[in-house]
Amino acid sequence: MEYELTVGLEIHAELKTQSKMFCACRNNPDAEQPNINICPICMGHPGTLPTINGEAIRQLVRVGLALDCQINEHSKFDRKSYFYPDLPKGYQISQYDWPVCKDGRLTIDDGRSTIQIERIHMEEDAGTLKHRGKDTLVDFNRAGVPLMELVTKPDITSSDQIAKFAKELQLILRYLGASDADMEKGQMRVEVNISISMGTKVEVKNINSISSAVKAAEYEFKRQAAALEKGEKIIQETRGWDDIKNITVSQRTKEGSADYRYFPEPDLPPMHFEDEQIERLRAELPELPAARRERFVREYGITPAQAEIFTVTKELGDFFEEVVSELGNAKLNTLAANYLITKLPKNITAENFAELISKISHRELSSTAAGIVLEEMSATGKDPDEIIRAKDLGQISDAAALVDLVDAIISKNPKPVEDYKKGKTEVLKFLVGQVMGASCGKANPEVVAELLKNKLVH
Ligand code: ZN
Ligand code: MN
Repeated sequence: MEYELTVGLEIHAELKTQSKMFCACRNNPDAEQPNINICPICMGHPGTLPTINGEAIRQLVRVGLALDCQINEHSKFDRKSYFYPDLPKGYQISQYDWPVCKDGRLTIDDGRSTIQIERIHMEEDAGTLKHRGKDTLVDFNRAGVPLMELVTKPDITSSDQIAKFAKELQLILRYLGASDADMEKGQMRVEVNISISMGTKVEVKNINSISSAVKAAEYEFKRQAAALEKGEKIIQETRGWDDIKNITVSQRTKEGSADYRYFPEPDLPPMHFEDEQIERLRAELPELPAARRERFVREYGITPAQAEIFTVTKELGDFFEEVVSELGNAKLNTLAANYLITKLPKNITAENFAELISKISHRELSSTAAGIVLEEMSATGKDPDEIIRAKDLGQISDAAALVDLVDAIISKNPKPVEDYKKGKTEVLKFLVGQVMGASCGKANPEVVAELLKNKLVH
C-alpha cells in the first residue's frame, strides 16, 4: 500500500537580545559559569514581578512580518504549567490563544511550495540539565531567555521540504539579526509532527540538526507504515530522536493542552500594537533571502546557482557586490562570480580583486598565472600588479613580442608544419604548445595561434 507523509513543524528559536525575556539578567545561555545570569525574577521567587522585554517583542514582530504573518492587534501571555527540574517557576510564561503573529507563509523549493505558518508566539526558555554520573546538575543561565515558537500547518509532504523550510527559516532569522539559529548550540530546535495517510500524529523531539530532522521523518514514515501493515494502531505520543542509533524512541504519551492548565498570566499586562508601529517595523526590514536571490540574478546577470551561494554565504555575496561596483563593467560580473565562488578569497580588498578580474579579462594573465596571483594576494594582501611584476607572471599578448619565438618553432618543426599545410589542422595545437613551452607558459595562446595560422598560410 502507498502511504502519504504529512508533516507539521514546531520550531523554537532563541532571540538575540541584551537581556532575558522578563528580567534584566544578561541573555547569555552559553556563559561558562553556571547560574551566573540569574535573579529572583527568572528563578520565580515569591513576590517578584516579571516585565516584558520590548526588544524581544520587536524582534518577534519583525520575524512575523518577514514571514508574511498578520500581527494580532491584541496579544497576551499565559501560564503553561508543568513540572520539570529545569523549569524554576513550575510554569512557563508562553502564549496560548492570542499569539503575537498568525497566518503567515514561507515559500520554498524555488517558489514551487508554500508552507503556511499557523502562528508564532513568544515565550521563555527553560534551564539546562547536566548529567554527571549519578548526579544531575541544573544550570539556569538559559532560564528566561526569549524564545519564539513557530508552528506550521501540516503542509509539508516530503522530508526534503523539512530541510528546505528549516534552512530558509534559519537564513531569514540570521538576515534579520533576530537569532543566530545555530542548531548545534540549541539556538534553534526543530520538532517534527508526523502522520501518514491522515492517521494519528506522532511528535518527535530532541533533534539537534536539520539532517537529523530529515532522518527522523524518514524513520517515522517507515515505522508507522510497517505498523499499519501489521494491523497495529499508531498511538499519539512524543518520541525522541536517538542520534546514535538513528531511530525514534517512545518518551511519553502526549499531554493535551488541558494538562498544561493554561490561564492568563496575571502579572503581565496584555499587549496592544498600533498599525503605525507595525508599518514602521515593516519598512525597516532588511532585504530578505528570496528578494536577494532574485535581485542578484536580475541585476548582475549571474546564474541562480551563483545567486544562491551569494545569498547563503552572505559575506561572500556582499564582497561580490563591492567587486561589481569596482569593476563597473557588467560583462565581467560572471567572470568575477566564477572566480569568487571557486577560490573563496581571504584578506583581499574588493578593489584588488576587481583589478585582478579585469587583468584576466584583458588577457594580461593566463588562468594558471591568475591562480598564482590570487593565492599570493590572499597570503600577503598585496595588489596584483606588484605580484605580477615580482613574479614575472604577466602574459605576453603583444604579437610583435611573440613573432621571433613563433618563427623559431616553425623552423624547428618542419614535419608538423608540412602536415598542417597539407590540411592536418589539428597539428596547430601541437605547435601552439611548443611556443607556450618555449615562452615558459607566458605567451597568450590565442595570440600565438593567430600568428601561426597567418604564417603557415602565406
Ligand atoms: Zn533574571
Ligand atoms: Mn514552546
